[in-house]
Amino acid sequence: MAKYADIIVDISHEKLDRTFQYRIPETMEDEIAAGSAVIVPFGRGSREIKGYVTGLSDMPSCDESKIKNIIKIDRDTVSPENSLVMTAAWMKRNYGGTMIQSLKTVIPVKDIQKVLKKKIITLLIDQDAALARSAYFSSKHQLAKARALDALSEEPVLPYELLSRKKNISSSTIQSLDKDAIISITEQEYFRNPVKGMDRDEIRNSLSDTQKDIIDHIMNDSEMGHPGKYLIHGITGSGKTEVYLGIAERMAADGKQTIVLIPEIALTYQTLLRFYKRFGDRVSVVNSTMSKGEKYDQFIRAEKGDLDVIIGPRSALFTPFSRLGAIIIDEEHETSYKSETCPRYHARETAEEITSKREAALILGSATPSLEAYYRAMDGRYHLFEMNERLTGGSLPKVATIDMRAELKGGNRSIFSFRLQTLMKECLERGEQAMLFINRRGVAGFISCRSCGHVMKCPHCDVSLTEHKNGRLICHYCGYSIPKPKVCPECGSPYIAGFKVGTEQIETEVKKMLPRARTLRMDADTTSRKGSYEKIIQSFSDGEADILIGTQMIVKGHDFPNVTVVGILAADLSLNSGDYRSGERTFQLLTQAAGRAGRGNRPGEVVIQTYQPDNYAIRFAASQDYKGFYFQEIGYRELLDYPPAAHMLGILICAADERRGSSFASRLAAISRDVLGITGEGVAGMDIDKGIIIGPAPALIGMIKDQYRFALYIKHSDHEALVRVKDVCENECVMNLPAGVYVQYDFDPIRAF
Ligand code: ADP
Ligand code: ZN
Ligand code: ZN
Repeated sequence: MAKYADIIVDISHEKLDRTFQYRIPETMEDEIAAGSAVIVPFGRGSREIKGYVTGLSDMPSCDESKIKNIIKIDRDTVSPENSLVMTAAWMKRNYGGTMIQSLKTVIPVKDIQKVLKKKIITLLIDQDAALARSAYFSSKHQLAKARALDALSEEPVLPYELLSRKKNISSSTIQSLDKDAIISITEQEYFRNPVKGMDRDEIRNSLSDTQKDIIDHIMNDSEMGHPGKYLIHGITGSGKTEVYLGIAERMAADGKQTIVLIPEIALTYQTLLRFYKRFGDRVSVVNSTMSKGEKYDQFIRAEKGDLDVIIGPRSALFTPFSRLGAIIIDEEHETSYKSETCPRYHARETAEEITSKREAALILGSATPSLEAYYRAMDGRYHLFEMNERLTGGSLPKVATIDMRAELKGGNRSIFSFRLQTLMKECLERGEQAMLFINRRGVAGFISCRSCGHVMKCPHCDVSLTEHKNGRLICHYCGYSIPKPKVCPECGSPYIAGFKVGTEQIETEVKKMLPRARTLRMDADTTSRKGSYEKIIQSFSDGEADILIGTQMIVKGHDFPNVTVVGILAADLSLNSGDYRSGERTFQLLTQAAGRAGRGNRPGEVVIQTYQPDNYAIRFAASQDYKGFYFQEIGYRELLDYPPAAHMLGILICAADERRGSSFASRLAAISRDVLGITGEGVAGMDIDKGIIIGPAPALIGMIKDQYRFALYIKHSDHEALVRVKDVCENECVMNLPAGVYVQYDFDPIRAF
């Protein structure tokens, strides 16, 4: 029996981010394990505070007499399972930040929520009587009572909240109806169940041979005791979700549970319904709009063994299943799988770690796999499956790439090419729908030439330069900068400028060209309110508009069978986002956008408008050729030592005082150089096996909230070397961090700081 426990105290304070040893009283010996939550005395006053056990030992690490006893086990806190604490430790090591930050990430809800009592209102009279009463109350001008009875005549049992809030009925009104014995109010305890009330009838498809083979292969590996890691590369509509359902079902039959990760934005009612129909109450969901209490309930249901499947975004990874069978990650290429707050973990990598430790299968699916996943499939770390046919029929759309430089020469100064104008008119005449997609992701003030398409790039980093307020163009990887040119250095044209078209301007142009067209706009502005995203999708789906105009939001996972024309405006914008993943992102977005056309019976047509028709990402997206794209892109990553061919660590240094921030950034660069043993300057210091240090330079976003931001990037062939760099930098921060300076780490960043 271990005598001592290493405990991390629950204080969000970087300087206390270490463990302290405590003695385990004999009475607690059997119960305390890594992951237990405990109350311990802390500091000179022996204040009682909460902590987590991260490890056990038999030997005291310091003078025995100085070690304090654990006071008690904290039963008001969910003790994360042992394995979750291990995952947190792994995350801290591999992504940086504090142990406490990592613990908080894997323990989604820390404090036990009160068991909720839900008030239910039941109508005690029949529907006709209710309507008669309603009419009576109306005539007496008791309109709230009338509203309540109207609602209850449609749905005789309603949650109290729903009736009072949605119908705006006061509690005194409800009480008065109760007194008159028209309704009853009851209370019940309940676990909030987000999928309750869905319709369970399922029409099952018989699986295709490909689907059967994949499920059998994965399940055989798992049942033989060596679950593997798999990538399913399948076009949209090829039946991947059906495969996920099949795997989860067979896992459940084996008594094992499955975590299904889906990007938040694709977590629609339709997707949920498919799982619900198969698993009923044994499936649940977590998402960001749920309350703490609701999330906590799902967590308890999982722990108690009431669930076979949980669906959710990134954070669902940490569901405490006792016998985890598989983690499935749909649309694994999505950038939302990477956390943008500390620890900046990637769900795919973390799932790799969790499935390895817990002997579970990892299944990734995508129509456009990330370079990381495909790279692993190519070198054999993942087993690759391919699904190349759409099961619902519907052919792949016809894609035309339009060179906007030629349009300009031909006298077309509109934002729509002649081809797209014609297609839109014809589409509307046929009573069909169109989508216009403006590729604005990551557009941050790059400069390009409208006449020849030339983009101003950094000669050292091969990413686009971005325009700063001071009028200079700057590379935010290395800091290279030049004055903004007045004419294009390639062709001498004066049409060299930033691109500033937004959805609003597109809508105006559409109205000018097609005054009768009904349009809908979807972007960050129009979807900022809760539920507005769904509303726009629904109303377009119901045919309330002819043309949907939007940013990348409109290209994700929605089927609009009546859409036959898709216009992609300024396809190359995302090529210029100024980081090494811009080609990949562009290819994915364009492939997805193109896939929106012709989902129904009618064939679709896609127009890709671009100033760089020869760019490989655009060419391969137009021909829907993933492999062609992959091999070209990976060649580029290998040449320039970018992930996944090498590893990269981004370090962000923020400070209100510019000089202080910049000098600490230089300090971290010098320390990194020392750790890695880099001696040469410039090209002499460019050996990926030793490590390459780039910067520090002002970050892409040079200032946020009056904090100056500096970025330092380090590339290395070995991930472990970068972990070492992070460790010494963290150590330097513990010892010598200047006041008002903040440091963050990002491994294999997916976007620039
Ligand atoms: P993906 O996840 O790859 O987009 P889905 O699993 O959603 O593909 O399948 C696309 C469509 O094909 C769905 O409407 C689904 O019901 C249908 N489908 C899936 N598998 C089969 C099958 N074996 N036979 C007939 N239809 C199928
Ligand atoms: Zn030019
Ligand atoms: Zn550069």
